[in-house]
Amino acid sequence: MAEREHKRVAVIGSGFGGLGSGVRLRREGVTDFVILERADAVGGTWRDNDYPGCACDVPSHLYSFSFAPNAGWPRTFSGQPHIRDYLERVTDAFGLRPHLRFDSEVQQARWNPEAAHWELRTASGELTADVLISAAGPLSDPKIPDIPGLADFPGRVFHSSRWDHDFDLDGKRVAMVGTGASAIQIVPSIQPRAGRLTVVQRTPPWVMPRMDRGVNAVEKWLHGTIPATHQARRGLLWLIREFQVGAFVKRPQLMKATEQIAKSHLRRAIKDPALRAELTPDYTIGCKRILLSNDYYPALAQPNTEVVTSALTEVRGSTIVTADGTEREVDAIVFGTGFHVQDMPIGDRVVGADGRTLAEHWKDGMAALRGITVDGFPNLLLVIGPNTGLGNSSMILMIESTLNYIADYLRTLDRTGAAALDARPQAVRSWNEALQRRMGRTVWNSGGCTSWYLDAAGRNTTAWPGTTAEFRRATRQVRLAEYDVLRTSVPEEAGV
Ligand SMILES: Cc1cc2nc3c(=O)[nH]c(=O)nc-3n(C[C@H](O)[C@H](O)[C@H](O)COP(=O)(O)OP(=O)(O)OC[C@H]3O[C@@H](n4cnc5c(N)ncnc54)[C@H](O)[C@@H]3O)c2cc1C
Repeated sequence: MAEREHKRVAVIGSGFGGLGSGVRLRREGVTDFVILERADAVGGTWRDNDYPGCACDVPSHLYSFSFAPNAGWPRTFSGQPHIRDYLERVTDAFGLRPHLRFDSEVQQARWNPEAAHWELRTASGELTADVLISAAGPLSDPKIPDIPGLADFPGRVFHSSRWDHDFDLDGKRVAMVGTGASAIQIVPSIQPRAGRLTVVQRTPPWVMPRMDRGVNAVEKWLHGTIPATHQARRGLLWLIREFQVGAFVKRPQLMKATEQIAKSHLRRAIKDPALRAELTPDYTIGCKRILLSNDYYPALAQPNTEVVTSALTEVRGSTIVTADGTEREVDAIVFGTGFHVQDMPIGDRVVGADGRTLAEHWKDGMAALRGITVDGFPNLLLVIGPNTGLGNSSMILMIESTLNYIADYLRTLDRTGAAALDARPQAVRSWNEALQRRMGRTVWNSGGCTSWYLDAAGRNTTAWPGTTAEFRRATRQVRLAEYDVLRTSVPEEAGV
């Protein structure tokens, strides 16, 4: 059999996480790596989500890499095409093209304890790697609920992250299922074109005003010619969000003032008291992601829009049926129903030292050491792993902290001459017990809602209950005491 290709590092995914990993690896002098991407282009979230109105909801000057400032952001909250274009430019500017392998979905990654390396089977062939970085994305596999009769629906059905651009919306009867972050961007974008728009809402979101505006020429010039002004802007945006964390994680009652702003935002746009009541959440703001929009409520008040406050339960021919028994005939159903977060498909594909998959290992809930490494999965590094999600700030900050850790991890391997490091179960447990203790009083756990932050057992395995600065400190360097050092397949502790 021909010898398999071997790499020092294999990276899964080419979104912010995978591309950032590539940049960091090169900066660390590691050039023997490959980025495996199932699609045919980079961009991750920002390649897949090209629905009408898609934009970031954290200001662009913060929602970008610190090492790749972009003076040219067109808006304070830039749209998907600009973010995607930014990632293409990062790919070129940092020399990542030669490392990219498209159409290479990772079907399985199995740790070989004897050889102390990962064996990868991909859609484009097999390879081995000493270290595996999974940046497969926390929100990259769309979830469509299992609705009886959906398979026989004669019209168009698609998920927000797989927009059907061949579907001509004009004059059509469209059902938008879900009222999350994507749906509230889609609704105002398609309402003027749709004949009738039915918004199927299970739980209303809290919606705050969106401070979006064009970035003017003076600002662009300043940021382009005096980089310190860009840094200062980014720093300020960051600081404001760091201060907000206190309310999210320590004193949810402080969120009441924010609720008042959201309520008056709703009052201004929705004059009909019955509709306003339907759109008023009954849980603490922040419990689910706070959404930002100036045109969502106005779109709901239009005569061609209707809000149905009952879950979709069945599809009968071209009729959607909701739990309250009402029926509506539609031409298309758009699902804004989120992603496989707690049950991410990559979990079924990564097989650890004892032959169990990550999903099996996590059957009682996702858990990792510092959100990055998992006991029994040596040399596996997760980008945006368990409990690293944010409710109010830029995920790029968390990604960059993780990259610091990954860089130190690789240096530690070199320095110690180890083949691999395996997180000690006790270290993973202590880290997560401390996290869960803090989680109890956060707004996500105590705010009176259910959300994708929580798993089936009600445990919050996705959000980070602290500031981004705290996470940066926690991931500055690898603490060797938290790991078993593997030189062969047997832990050093065991006397080898
Ligand atoms: C619509 C939308 C808007 C968002 N807006 C914001 C925002 O404003 N601010 C914010 O902080 N966060 C936002 N997020 C969260 C966003 O997901 C993260 O900020 C960030 O983009 C995640 O980057 P990533 O590289 O980890 O994952 P992704 O961007 O999801 O990239 C993962 C990549 O891995 C690839 N992949 C997955 N599985 C495999 C496999 N088995 N083999 C090979 N390749 C694979 C995917 O194709 C994809 O390219 C948003 C998310 C969505 C969906």
